[in-house]
Amino acid sequence: MMTANEIRESFKKFFESKGHKIEPSAPMVIKDDPTLMFTNAGMNQWKDIILGTRDPEPRRRADSQKCLRVSGKHNDLEEVGHDTYHHTMFEMLGNWSFGDYFKEGAIDMAWEYLVDVLHLDPKDLYVTVFEGSPEENLERDDEAARYWAKHVPTDHIINGNKHDNFWEMGDTGPCGPCSEIHLDSRTPEEKAKVPGRELVNKDDPQVIEIWNLVFMQFNRKADGSLEKLSMNVIDTGMGFERLVRALQGKHSNYDTDIFQPIIKEISRLSGLEYGKDEKTDVAMRVVADHLRAVAFSIADGQLPGNAKAGYVIRRILRRAVRYAYTFLGQKETFLFRLVPTLIAEMGEAYPELTAQRELIMRVIKEEEDSFLRTLSNGINMLNDAMDEVKKEGKTELDGAKAFRLFDTYGFPLDLTELICRENGLTVDEKQFDEEMQKQKQRARNAAAVENSDWTELRQGEQQFVGYDYTEYECHILRYRKVT
Ligand code: ATP
Ligand code: MG
Ligand code: MG
Ligand code: MG
Repeated sequence: MMTANEIRESFKKFFESKGHKIEPSAPMVIKDDPTLMFTNAGMNQWKDIILGTRDPEPRRRADSQKCLRVSGKHNDLEEVGHDTYHHTMFEMLGNWSFGDYFKEGAIDMAWEYLVDVLHLDPKDLYVTVFEGSPEENLERDDEAARYWAKHVPTDHIINGNKHDNFWEMGDTGPCGPCSEIHLDSRTPEEKAKVPGRELVNKDDPQVIEIWNLVFMQFNRKADGSLEKLSMNVIDTGMGFERLVRALQGKHSNYDTDIFQPIIKEISRLSGLEYGKDEKTDVAMRVVADHLRAVAFSIADGQLPGNAKAGYVIRRILRRAVRYAYTFLGQKETFLFRLVPTLIAEMGEAYPELTAQRELIMRVIKEEEDSFLRTLSNGINMLNDAMDEVKKEGKTELDGAKAFRLFDTYGFPLDLTELICRENGLTVDEKQFDEEMQKQKQRARNAAAVENSDWTELRQGEQQFVGYDYTEYECHILRYRKVT
């Protein structure tokens, strides 16, 4: 059985043998693009070539790109841990052609790599092609279907809609149909019951998308119309963790050698076993996943902080702390102890991890420390409050109490709600919001007369950061002051 590191190498070697230049991963944290905080796909670093403002030579390239999908168009955070194939941070294997080969070449190479080189069973593979969209004057991608038909039986070629099978960079710019390769890893009994083709793109955890081949051939103009692109572009992205899982014959990304060493270390440190209880398992997956996201961000120079990218990283870390605290019994700093295990597995492919080892451990430990203090104070107070509610025979925690938790302990509303829910209680959210408004009014009044270090929140100073952040810190974010 190939190891994850061998699989990553084999991808690069294969595309190198097909004339591609092997490129390094771009940083996961983006510093100079106001439209994107984190790299969320392999193509990000080639945007300028695709838009025609940078020299496309060499025209064939391939790499393994560190990606993070926790904000904006791709936000998988809520899935992570609960399912077994979406991560916050993951690696995307990709190959590109900038005006060189097009659909036929991309399809032939993808197929050759998966089936001839890696020996995946073609019976388990399904491919999708764009079905067309008459109202937009877009035809079915018969061309791609024809090339696929060289390799796969027609009942493994599935039409897909615009949502899944038509890629656009934005409202304007390069776009085109895409073909995805899906893998059916169900048991033979399950396969006998329902054909795999019926489960493609249906969120079945055993019939998952592994590779997306994008065929950029149009340019969408400001008036919405499409013109032919001056240079056809192939842009592919394959989930590395999903590929490894397929090749190692596992049913979960977390059962591969990418995650198992971390999960085992979590088990050893917590004294809990993986695979015995769903809540524990979810927590272990969250911790293992988030550890990677946070460690790679710090290695890229993005520390947890109060704004923008730093705040996103802080939230990921705190989500991990909360799961470890609540479901793995970790009341003391814990995540930072997992860093050496992560580096042992990934440090060779990503030397920045090894180089920043001390910093990564120190920063994670400090963050954990400060958040744990908040967490335990808040939880003690909340336990008392919930006892009172129950004693009074009620089922709802009043919003003023939830607000005091927030205001005094920095205890986010969604966390209060989560814990209440686990205890069969609800929270009066409307009252919480009213208290929040009152608090803001008090702040204004105080600032008007006192002129102390209290800073007034004037209109325009507050930035609406949106509901992207649906986790328990959304309230802090919604009211965050711009500094
Ligand atoms: P899905 O439908 O599973 O959410 P996607 O269509 O959003 O995937 P693409 O944008 O096409 O994904 O990205 C290319 C590949 O990257 C996917 O085929 C998949 O293998 C992988 N991938 C996407 N999102 C994740 C994630 N959150 N974690 C791990 N791998 C992912
Ligand atoms: Mg997705
Ligand atoms: Mg998809
Ligand atoms: Mg896709």
